Amino acid sequence: MEVKVDALVLRTADYGESDKMLTLFSLQQGKISAAIKGVRKASAKLRFAAQPFCFAEYVLARRGDRYTVIGATMTDGFYALHENIDKFYAAATLTGVCDALLYGGIVNEELFLRAVNALREMCEGDEAEALIGFLLHALALSGYALDLSACAVCGAPLSGRTYFDLARGSFTCGECAVGSGVSASTLEILKKCTGTPYDDSLICADGKKRALKLLYAYFRSKTDEKVKAFADYIAMLP
Ligand SMILES: [Zn+2]
Repeated sequence: MEVKVDALVLRTADYGESDKMLTLFSLQQGKISAAIKGVRKASAKLRFAAQPFCFAEYVLARRGDRYTVIGATMTDGFYALHENIDKFYAAATLTGVCDALLYGGIVNEELFLRAVNALREMCEGDEAEALIGFLLHALALSGYALDLSACAVCGAPLSGRTYFDLARGSFTCGECAVGSGVSASTLEILKKCTGTPYDDSLICADGKKRALKLLYAYFRSKTDEKVKAFADYIAMLP
């Protein structure tokens, strides 16, 4: 039986002499594994379809619960991500987070579309901001939404130095102060990346790094998963 899916490559692993096993995030069937034969040979026609972040329409042959890729038509290879080390790691963080959040067979169309859009944004613009925006949406879709609009205790609008409670995933104002301190710069970057009004004058050079550290700590506390690319990407940022 043949099936066609629109899918993004989350992860690849070599096996056999020249084959790979792909972990695909598909629009229609969620996360699936599929073998792809002979793609480590330089002349392989489907070589592109086994590259990280490849977005393509895959034709899969299904036998029992095993899939093999028998054809693919590229939708977007996101080549810019392969030409810049920062962009590459930001994209690897995105695919690693999707891999950690998805369970086999669960369809998540919104997360899929957010992932593809964020990869496009990473190609064209600031990859750290595209990643932060994606992470906030991905966490919200998994039931871990962060409310940046108001103090979780008194309801006052959040501005300046605030506090973040990792266990509750809640921000509090300077008066209520539950959890660890969060710089004004971190808060404003998080607001910016969710498309809410923010104060640009409060954003410092290391704002994105701090925001990503907060998001990774929160992600780890909720999922118990490590994403190596995420830690590596944070370490690379200035
Ligand atoms: Zn408060």
